[in-house]
Amino acid sequence: MNESNHQVDKRQSPGSTAQLHSGAQTGMAKPKVVKNRQKPIQKWRLAVQIAFALLCVWIGIEFHFFVKYLESGGTAAYSERPPGVEGFLPISSLMSLYYFLLSGEIHPAHPAGLVILVAIIALSIVFGKAFCSWLCPVGLISEALGDLGEKIFRRRLKMPRWLDYPLRSLKYLLLAFFVYAIFFSMGRLALQAFLDSPYNIVADIKMYYFFAQISQFALIVIGILVLLSIPFRGFWCRNLCPYGALLGITSFLSPHKIKRDPVSCIDCGKCALKCPAFIKVDKVKTVWSDECTSCMSCVDVCPVADTLEVKSLITRKPVHKRWTAIATVGIFVAITGLGMLTGYWQNRVTTEEYIHHQQYLEGYGHPTDAEGLGRMHEQSPQVPVGAPQR
Ligand code: SF4
Ligand code: SF4
Repeated sequence: MNESNHQVDKRQSPGSTAQLHSGAQTGMAKPKVVKNRQKPIQKWRLAVQIAFALLCVWIGIEFHFFVKYLESGGTAAYSERPPGVEGFLPISSLMSLYYFLLSGEIHPAHPAGLVILVAIIALSIVFGKAFCSWLCPVGLISEALGDLGEKIFRRRLKMPRWLDYPLRSLKYLLLAFFVYAIFFSMGRLALQAFLDSPYNIVADIKMYYFFAQISQFALIVIGILVLLSIPFRGFWCRNLCPYGALLGITSFLSPHKIKRDPVSCIDCGKCALKCPAFIKVDKVKTVWSDECTSCMSCVDVCPVADTLEVKSLITRKPVHKRWTAIATVGIFVAITGLGMLTGYWQNRVTTEEYIHHQQYLEGYGHPTDAEGLGRMHEQSPQVPVGAPQR
């Protein structure tokens, strides 16, 4: 039991009417409860989210200057390409992962993308979907929009069940499509041909132009998603993000779960009210939901000590939320750091090759078959991808 907690009489404990009702309804002597004195961790979570969002902004700015350098044909001031940009190429990274599983080799086009994907999956296997609520910049924006919605509507709106379930399955359908298109439709040679293709090599630059020269249609779609995220918290993350779907599945392997002690629980319902994923935390002993993002909001608001905790299913011991936070950031930093140290971070596409591809960028469409890949290789024949630096 935490040393900072102290015994309080349940009748005197602040907060819920529910706990008073529970005593009145049973007519039994009021049991003593121990007040939760642990400091909330939400401020730290926000700080980590902002730090990672700023890191992404910095990567974006660096990449902007890299593209400007390419556009100048190499005459402007040189700016290095930040490999972290590959974190925004999840499909290419998923292909790289499959290629690695088939061949045992790390494809050299976007090694940082593969390392980041592995870090995120590894994190989810240890701490569930913690990436979504601690590190993902889209998660941060999504939360900010949800907070704004709660201020406007003065409550947390929830979609009706008949709409919520089918919408939530959309992200799994999207993931299933990508998994089928990659894992069930491509062999090693097809994968290699795609990963070697100029389209894949410049996928980050094409993504840059997608946002820098955003079409009216894309703007409207993004605008609709933003607007829907105000009344419906986490609309994108909950319903459409295939990354979230992947982590939702791998999170089932995580031995760390939010656990409620029904003996000490006073049924105040605060945990369920606070949960951004609308999980009925107050009704279960263990949170197994694929929507749980390990945000610790429920743990923070629980008024009773040692009642709602992250626990290891292996050791059956609680893991302090502080350690959960440190380990979440630590796992991500350690794996990406390992990628950097072992040379699987920077690709070896030279600046000259990038300048060469820049001229043909418009012609590099998404290859859908072997003929398309062949045409693209013919168009840009002299640029094989090198091995990663060690
Ligand atoms: S169950 Fe708790 S940790 Fe999981 S999403 Fe809800 S509030 Fe966050
Ligand atoms: S587990 Fe939930 S319902 Fe039980 S005391 Fe804690 S916040 Fe209240």
